[in-house]
Amino acid sequence: MPAATSFANFGYFATALIATAAVAVAAGIQFLLVGWRRGGDRTSQAFAVLCLCVATLAFGRAGVYSAQTLPHAMLALRVLAGAVLLALPALMFFVAGYTNRPMPRRLAVAVLLLTLGMSVLNLFEPGTVMYASVQAAAPLQLPWGETLYAIDGTRSASGRVFYWLCYAAFAWTFYRALRQCAAHDQRLRGAMLLACLLVQFLALLWSTVVIDAMGRPYPATDAFAFLSFVLLMGLWLVGQMRTHTAQLERTAAQLRAEAATRHQAEQSLRHAAWHDALTGLPNRLHALDRLCGLLDDAERSGLHGSVLLVDLDHFKTINESLGHRFGDLLLQAVAERLSDAVPDAIAVARLGGDEFLVLLCPTSADAATAARRGTAMAAHVLAHLAKPLVVERRPQAIGASIGVASFPDAGVGAADIVRRADIALHRAKAAGRHAARLFEPQMQAEADVRLELERGLRLALQRDELTLHFQPQVDAAGRLAGAEALLRWRNPAQGMLLPGGFIHIAEETGLIHALGLWVVDAACSQLREWHRQGLAAGIHLSINVSPWQITQPQFADDLAAHVRAAGIEPAALTLELTESALLGDFDAARQTLQQLSDAGFRLSLDDFGTGYSSLASLQQLPLDELKIDRSFVLALQPGSANPLAGFIVDIGKRLGMTTVAEGVETAEQQTTLAALGCNLMQGHFIGMPMPAEEFQHWLAARHATDAVPVGAP
Ligand code: C2E
Ligand code: MG
Ligand code: MG
Repeated sequence: MPAATSFANFGYFATALIATAAVAVAAGIQFLLVGWRRGGDRTSQAFAVLCLCVATLAFGRAGVYSAQTLPHAMLALRVLAGAVLLALPALMFFVAGYTNRPMPRRLAVAVLLLTLGMSVLNLFEPGTVMYASVQAAAPLQLPWGETLYAIDGTRSASGRVFYWLCYAAFAWTFYRALRQCAAHDQRLRGAMLLACLLVQFLALLWSTVVIDAMGRPYPATDAFAFLSFVLLMGLWLVGQMRTHTAQLERTAAQLRAEAATRHQAEQSLRHAAWHDALTGLPNRLHALDRLCGLLDDAERSGLHGSVLLVDLDHFKTINESLGHRFGDLLLQAVAERLSDAVPDAIAVARLGGDEFLVLLCPTSADAATAARRGTAMAAHVLAHLAKPLVVERRPQAIGASIGVASFPDAGVGAADIVRRADIALHRAKAAGRHAARLFEPQMQAEADVRLELERGLRLALQRDELTLHFQPQVDAAGRLAGAEALLRWRNPAQGMLLPGGFIHIAEETGLIHALGLWVVDAACSQLREWHRQGLAAGIHLSINVSPWQITQPQFADDLAAHVRAAGIEPAALTLELTESALLGDFDAARQTLQQLSDAGFRLSLDDFGTGYSSLASLQQLPLDELKIDRSFVLALQPGSANPLAGFIVDIGKRLGMTTVAEGVETAEQQTTLAALGCNLMQGHFIGMPMPAEEFQHWLAARHATDAVPVGAP
């Protein structure tokens, strides 16, 4: 007797069904967990329910085939039918999720209601939902000798509905699977689903139609067919996990790339914030930060260091005449040269424009040694920078001025140390440039006064604190020929200030342009007034013009328009320029002078003999007048053989210019100058610079004694 028979209907087939049920339960639990971990993923949940239904179906089948009596078999059949009923909506929900298209709501409701209704029938109908009547049939004999309990029954109307419901559900799932196959990127997934559905459907047909049609008793295999679904979903899950992993890896790579880009951006932003774009050197912010650190170090260690503030001489002129591109390249070359010159500097920074800062490490035992070291280093830097640089294959010499300040000094911060170096730098520039100066405490007080003057000068224009004094000019016979307008500042704190005390500040701060315009306006309105009073017929008024004013391209046109608008003919004014006006761009200066001359202004070269103008260049300029500097007048000794003033008078005569001697303080000087052939004279002996009213009285008195030459004893 085979073993299956001795174990009362429970043999390999039933065991295989139980094993299938176990696999389905395991898959169901797994997908329940997957669904839960994915935050309620419907597809996984529907599949889990489907698994549990199939597990129940397999149990039911195993129950039927291993039953001893009909009631046992009926109970198992009822369980089986109930499992199939519940499996239908689960299958449909699963396929809907798998194919990424939700089930239409009405269909879902209809299927649920139908299965619910049929489940109720299944519970209460005697032959379950499938049969009208059921009886035990001849046991099924399997080829290996196993015997299965079998039942036979008459199919009820609900049984037919039950099967048609199954077919309809499958038809719908086939439709969905085919649609998925049609979608280009879902083809494989669709094909796999289709294959599983087909296996399952064939198993259903086998269990319902084929076995009946063949009239031969074969066991149903629908539960086994479901294993293909478990396989499908296992593969699907693996695929999903792979996609998910790949996605995670992609995201991680993206995040890494993003972090790297952000890091790079941060680095370059940081670099840009701390470095000068042109030279790549640390910028002002960076330099001050480093200096702060050095001050702390120095205070802790008790050692002293110094800073060098380097400013290029006449860089503006080079920049303007050779172009900004050349200027940029020159700055880059200077930056390199500077870094080479002080290799052991803590930092070489560009503060802006043509200003560089060198930070020297605090290594000296006291401030005096640090100052000496700083000054020696400054001399070294000057010598190093003096060697011509080659920019765009063009050798270019560039000078520099340097201010040196030592540190630390109790309570003095980084910005103040740089300010001290700046004060010393101004001194170096004032000393004729290409020089270095060390900051000394008294410089601070002077700088404060200067700053006060600078502030005051800005306000002086608005507060009407400026005024003109007039100094007469007479000819050799003592006849009045003109007057020079000399600027004065009624400073509220310091009293009347002479131009020597503030003109250079106006020039350095750019205020000179507004100041120059004010002088022209004031001179014109004074001339108008004298004309109105009939006092100054034929008088020339001389106005001093700063070299900075003539560097403005529109200066000549603007001045002519301004003077004419004030009701004065340009010919009534003489513009006095010093030789320094010709030192920069000579051609541009000559062009401006030509325009001024063409506009009708007389032009005079002031303080002649003290500058560096060559006689050749003098010839090229449209000058009307040479002013002999006071020093030559002072040097006039009675009976001296070859006075320099005489040479200047000769030059003036040869070039067809009027010569004016300034600073005439004695009768002898006046007589000698007249004898030398000097055309006009100006000086304390003839008349002091006077306020307008006083000058008016002087004029009126001169009119009254018209016959008496001015300056005659
Ligand atoms: P400058 O144009 O050479 O003016 C002559 C200076 O010599 C004046 O000094 C005048 O007061 C002074 N002076 C005249 N006669 C004698 C004398 O017999 N003995 C002595 N010791 N000095 C005499 P001031 O007024 O102080 O002007 C100085 C310089 O300031 C002027 O030199 C001129 O270069 C400049 N300046 C004056 N006013 C203006 C102005 O409105 N604009 C500009 N840009 N510069 C001006
Ligand atoms: Mg003058
Ligand atoms: Mg002069």
